[in-house]
Amino acid sequence: MAESDADDGERIAVGSASAAPGTLDRGWLAVADLPTRGAERLPVAVANGTEDGATLWLTGGVHGDEATGVAVVQDAVTALANGDRLADLAGAVVAVPVVSPAGLRRNARETYYADEDPNRHFPDADAESARPPRLQERIDARLYAAITGGTAGAADTATGTEVDAAPGENAAADALIDCHTAGVGSAPFVIRDRVPCGDRRTEDEAAALSDELGRIVDAFGFPTLREYPAAEYVEETLQRSTAGAVLNEAGIPAFTAELGAHSVVDDELVDAGVAGIFGVAVELGLLASDWVPATVGEPGEGVDPAPVDFPVRRYRGPTTDVSGLVRHRVAAGDQFDEGDVLADVVAATGAERGEVTADRDGYVLGRAEGLAAYEGDPIASLAVRDDGDLVVPRETDEN
Ligand SMILES: [Zn+2]
Repeated sequence: MAESDADDGERIAVGSASAAPGTLDRGWLAVADLPTRGAERLPVAVANGTEDGATLWLTGGVHGDEATGVAVVQDAVTALANGDRLADLAGAVVAVPVVSPAGLRRNARETYYADEDPNRHFPDADAESARPPRLQERIDARLYAAITGGTAGAADTATGTEVDAAPGENAAADALIDCHTAGVGSAPFVIRDRVPCGDRRTEDEAAALSDELGRIVDAFGFPTLREYPAAEYVEETLQRSTAGAVLNEAGIPAFTAELGAHSVVDDELVDAGVAGIFGVAVELGLLASDWVPATVGEPGEGVDPAPVDFPVRRYRGPTTDVSGLVRHRVAAGDQFDEGDVLADVVAATGAERGEVTADRDGYVLGRAEGLAAYEGDPIASLAVRDDGDLVVPRETDEN
């Protein structure tokens, strides 16, 4: 970790936010030129402690409709920089509450640049394309450069633009938490990515990185899901998500927090998310342990931080074999066994059409949105038993 630690007494800057030791500063990181002139700018807050230590990055709003994640990042950096706490902070917190301003403007997951998911365009050295990178990929590369203390490579800016050519100074991350929300009625959880080994890192190095990741994931105190298995992970381009790229490409511990449902700020989960970030800050040595709120490990009323006693992974399914209207028999938090019926599918007349059963043990994260389901559609988002490994060979030819 020492390599990227802020040295005692150094100013930390990201874009126009520049914080001397013992101060908080807010500003903007310019990441793209707009056709209407002016720049697309990401909001930034830098809380720089008085003492040397790790740098924790907090990102939110890469999906423009995920309100609670934005609020968690805003409130966490404000709380961490509040009064005595900033004086006692050993290290720094860099917060980017809205990673996708273009998504926020339309209150939608995708931006209007090319209707793309901004969370699938972060750098991946194995992702080859004959075409020059489009705007979203350039924006993600510029933010990634600020997070990792590097340069934006192919997306480096031409002269004469308003884009920040040097995105950060002494700001490289030692850990990152990317704050999201999931579907309607979703239970809160965190996603722990598997760490691939191969040409980037040996199996031992991957295991050490995975252990480091496990420590901060545990400190957050939410129910933990392992990410999809390797092939599905790459198929979904999750190695190019914010946390996926920072973890896989840069080798920095990073995870995704899913803070309930989208579109409306859930105040209880804001408190729980901020508490989780304090837990991680303590684990990283940024704060003395007596700063940990009592609510760490209590991610909300009626939410069990460990609903089942076996490891689980993220699973979108099971799928229905028949088209119809879905009537769920289960809701978020409910446990089930393999073979249990999770939903009925009925015709619009009300006549029975079929049942959808669980193909593994687990519990429900949330019901799929939408009353209508077509054959092959998943009817829920689940946490299911995981028998896989946390360190996996990287399947480079899957791309
Ligand atoms: Zn999201």
